[in-house]
Amino acid sequence: MNDTAPDTIFMKIIRREIPAEIVYEDDETIAFLDSNPATKGHTLVVPKEFSENIFDIDEEPLTAVMRTVKKIAPAVRDAVGAHGLHINSNHGSAAGQVVPHLHIHLIPRHSRDEFNFWPQQHLSTADAAAIATAIREKIG
Ligand code: 5GP
Repeated sequence: MNDTAPDTIFMKIIRREIPAEIVYEDDETIAFLDSNPATKGHTLVVPKEFSENIFDIDEEPLTAVMRTVKKIAPAVRDAVGAHGLHINSNHGSAAGQVVPHLHIHLIPRHSRDEFNFWPQQHLSTADAAAIATAIREKIG
């Protein structure tokens, strides 16, 4: 654990200073139930080494997080009798990130639930080409 890391609510969970329903843990990651679930079984996967989000995390801890996501996703789905799940993550306050410690949401979904996730917009061919070109140029 990084001693200089910001003292986020998730750091407190990692250090067992506040309660959480921890469902999985290994040397690099921890997974626990979201305290305000979008759907039943909503689980968060968090790296123990602090990173704020995708923009500052190193590849190794991110890989560890995704390994844990892959490991526990079937259990999260099956434990609540769901048929699928969202793997979602917010990066930056503009994207809805409230807790400034990288986390992946696993949100179980049932075939006929009422949960509505993405609004969809029209994308013109010209806009798609311009946006894709800009992204490719930024990737370099
Ligand atoms: P974000 O909006 O940052 O992507 O998601 C943060 C998530 O953390 C939210 O879904 C919120 O319910 C959850 N959360 C915030 N504080 C706590 C807490 O103290 N314990 C747990 N288990 N979850 C929390």
